[in-house]
Amino acid sequence: MSPENRTAIVTGASRGIGAEIARHLAADGVSVVVNYASSPGAAEAVVAEITDAGGRAVAVRADLSVPAAASDLFDQAEAEFGSVDILVNNAGMMQLSPIAGAEDPQIDAHVALNLAAPARLMREASRRMGAGGRIVNLSSSVVGLYQPGYGLYAATKAGIEALTHILAKELGPQGITVNAVAPGPVGTDFFLAGKSEALVEQIKKMNPFGRLGTPEDIARVVRFLTSEQAGWISGQVIRANGGVI
Ligand code: NAP
Repeated sequence: MSPENRTAIVTGASRGIGAEIARHLAADGVSVVVNYASSPGAAEAVVAEITDAGGRAVAVRADLSVPAAASDLFDQAEAEFGSVDILVNNAGMMQLSPIAGAEDPQIDAHVALNLAAPARLMREASRRMGAGGRIVNLSSSVVGLYQPGYGLYAATKAGIEALTHILAKELGPQGITVNAVAPGPVGTDFFLAGKSEALVEQIKKMNPFGRLGTPEDIARVVRFLTSEQAGWISGQVIRANGGVI
């Protein structure tokens, strides 16, 4: 499959890291399905940027916390571009809470979006992708920190890492690679929401580079993992975090 004829689904690509991944893949000539849940204007703006630069993209609404959304999203991507060669499981949520304070809806929401949705999308990819396919899952460096308050979030991301290692072994015979990227703190809505400026400064200082990660820092790694050059890399978790852990 030549790089120009490939199609990617990037979940949660209306904002933040996902939007930057969509732009980077489009710059490689990949046709991109820009998935979103509640921000049609932002998703269409990402599509417009890509098409204005000569690329191909379409915005597709799918609330991935709904079980049927995974196969619907693949159906829509195939109807638009013919086949899916790259899946980036990027959409995610994080609500911090000690486990003692976790409400049922909060537990269900983390599992539905951060774990069940990527699992269903990986299932669809396993059934539909051909040789040369690429799956990249977004984990988080907090998986290795065991910090109080991060239990629900870190548990779902640890689950994603387990799925990554196992699916890599299942899909190797089909010529498909499966990897994860685990960012440290990245300056998006996701990370900044509810944090004081002083706390953000403190977190920056904890990093050897003295700054937060940017969506571009992460998108570059995803772009590489989806490239032909990364064909012998599978079952790996790349901790893209400036060396903080
Ligand atoms: P973000 O800026 O909050 O963007 C989240 C994206 O997910 C948006 O495009 C949003 O779409 C989409 N989304 C939310 N709920 C959805 C649903 N039910 N169905 C489909 N899409 C949905 O987040 P981010 O910082 O870019 O994070 C992206 C990924 O990186 C996440 O998996 C996160 O866990 C991981 N990560 C982030 C950091 C960080 O510090 N930022 C660190 C480590 C790992 P709408 O705009 O339509 O709501």
